[in-house]
Amino acid sequence: MKFQTIIVGGGLAGLTAGLALQKKGISCAIISSGENALHFSSGTFSGDCPEETVRLFEEAGIVLKGDPAKDSWRLTPSGSMQKVRLAFEDVTLYPSEKINATNVLIANPEGFIDFPTAFIADGISQQGIPCKVKSFSLPCLKLLRESPSEMRSVGIAKKLDGCIEEVAECIKGLLDGEDLVILPQVFGLASPEPVRALRAAIPAEINFIGTMPPSVPGIRVQLQLKKAFERAGGTFLMGDTAIMAEIADGTVRFIRTKNLDSHILSADNYILASGTFFSKGLTSSMQKISEPLFGLDVECPEERTEWYSEDFFAPQPYMAAGVKTDKDLHPLRDGQPISNLYAAGSILAGKKNAGMALTSTFKVVKKIAL
Ligand SMILES: Cc1cc2nc3c(=O)[nH]c(=O)nc-3n(C[C@H](O)[C@H](O)[C@H](O)COP(=O)(O)OP(=O)(O)OC[C@H]3O[C@@H](n4cnc5c(N)ncnc54)[C@H](O)[C@@H]3O)c2cc1C
Repeated sequence: MKFQTIIVGGGLAGLTAGLALQKKGISCAIISSGENALHFSSGTFSGDCPEETVRLFEEAGIVLKGDPAKDSWRLTPSGSMQKVRLAFEDVTLYPSEKINATNVLIANPEGFIDFPTAFIADGISQQGIPCKVKSFSLPCLKLLRESPSEMRSVGIAKKLDGCIEEVAECIKGLLDGEDLVILPQVFGLASPEPVRALRAAIPAEINFIGTMPPSVPGIRVQLQLKKAFERAGGTFLMGDTAIMAEIADGTVRFIRTKNLDSHILSADNYILASGTFFSKGLTSSMQKISEPLFGLDVECPEERTEWYSEDFFAPQPYMAAGVKTDKDLHPLRDGQPISNLYAAGSILAGKKNAGMALTSTFKVVKKIAL
């Protein structure tokens, strides 16, 4: 099978690259093994984000709040405030390190333990704002509650998205003059409509805060990007893994995947957006950190003892490991760039956040679509 561009990895970088390229008329295939960092997302993007992000996401039906070039603040599940650039529409952003409220209600489905209400309440109280925690119970959650392992964010969202009016009535019944209601991110799995409907129905600001993974808004955004990519004509090979790449004379000739073992996939250009250790874009043995598909040069400390810091709270050097590239983001193999291969996202060496993933992605898109 022949495409103009083949992308390895269907996370934020791979999907954004695929969607942007398809929109420019460049036929793409994305090979995507599975879970990616969006599935664990806080619902916010940190780091400088390119201007193009907001428009491209909007075309995919995804509303991003905030300014891609200016910091806003979000309330985190630990009750602290964190600088971010952009946020999914679930999250309320604040212009300073203080939430904008005079009286807060944190409302949590009864029996849901993946939402740290005590930390959030403590953080808000430390800002000098009164805060109460209440739980609500709905008949549709009864079965889930009977099996605690089912009482997880995605399972709850599947139930609550189907009865938003009841949820709204329940929360209105808990209100006692509060002007901010904090809810866990357990709404809007397949579309943002439940989030919007709750905001419209409840007479107070609503801020949806992250839960323990999986991330409901992250899964939704990944699905929206995937659908937009497919609508634009892209081919998404879901659940497939690139297992072998043929390289000759400094160019990639073709890729083989696990599911299409009798076919080769070839393209004019290839993008490696396979993420970091978490997504198996990088692997490690006792001796070294490697990029497993193309055998690329990896930037990381030589000695294993330098991969990590003894201080648990210090930045861990292995977290910054990634593939080496030239200035045009062509990865190096034995010190030489591969001319039709680009690297984008957290597979690159250095700081890992959404801003960095998106900046490198749009840079690669511009190179390919020249
Ligand atoms: C758990 C976690 C949570 C994060 N949360 C945030 C956040 O809230 N905000 C923020 O700004 N940053 C966050 N980050 C930083 C994150 O790195 C970036 O935001 C960004 O999402 C990374 O996107 P990516 O596409 O480069 O990689 P990934 O999201 O890791 O996607 C890589 C994809 O490639 C696939 N893949 C790997 N190898 C192959 C192969 N051989 N064949 C086919 N597919 C393959 C993987 O299965 C995966 O789907 C988080 C990182 C992690 C690890």
